[in-house]
Amino acid sequence: MIDEKGILFILSGPSGVGKGTVRKALFEEDTNLKYSISMTTRPMREGEREGVDYFYRSRQEFEEMISQRKLLEYAEYVGNYYGTPKQYVEEMIESGHDVFLEIEVQGALQVKENFPQGVFIFLIPPSLEELKNRIKERGTESEELILNRLKEARNEIEMMDAYDYVVVNDDIASAVEKVQSIVQSEHCKRERIAKQFKALLEVDHT
Ligand code: 5GP
Repeated sequence: MIDEKGILFILSGPSGVGKGTVRKALFEEDTNLKYSISMTTRPMREGEREGVDYFYRSRQEFEEMISQRKLLEYAEYVGNYYGTPKQYVEEMIESGHDVFLEIEVQGALQVKENFPQGVFIFLIPPSLEELKNRIKERGTESEELILNRLKEARNEIEMMDAYDYVVVNDDIASAVEKVQSIVQSEHCKRERIAKQFKALLEVDHT
């Protein structure tokens, strides 16, 4: 067995594009990916559970995590903090498991800085118009908030350049399938495999 580290996959994209839905559908399938549960200061929504959907913390607790450098990345989004606890990600990657992050774009850019060997997947809506409808259909947000999110989304789409893959979320099942193919392709990458075999040869030689 070749000693292999896990791969960090980062799914990101504009707000309202359906990152959470694609991620949930992906994890309903049989997968070896480990989902990194984020920490947030936003209130728990109905149907959500502590330690399943998020780790729900106070701003003070979250800011302690920041100052202790225990977050791989974090961002303030619509008035709340969201961040990725570092320890879980590091332990999983070191022990050979693939880790999956589903985060907004500011956080993804931080991961890109700190962990450039990650695989960055950008999820985009079929059109901005559809994005607008999806945000509106949520029905729980004010017009002002929707307009803010749309403005943010336009900027986010321009950030596509920082990513390795782009997946259009025109259909959840097909987006999930594409993400699964990306995971598989990354495991077949020549540079990754050659590196592992070379390391193995060096061990044999000594
Ligand atoms: P929601 O409040 O709808 O669950 O999530 C709002 C946004 O925060 C989504 O775009 C989601 O992808 C993002 N998000 C969730 N967890 C994290 C995280 O750990 N870090 C960052 N940067 N964004 C996150």
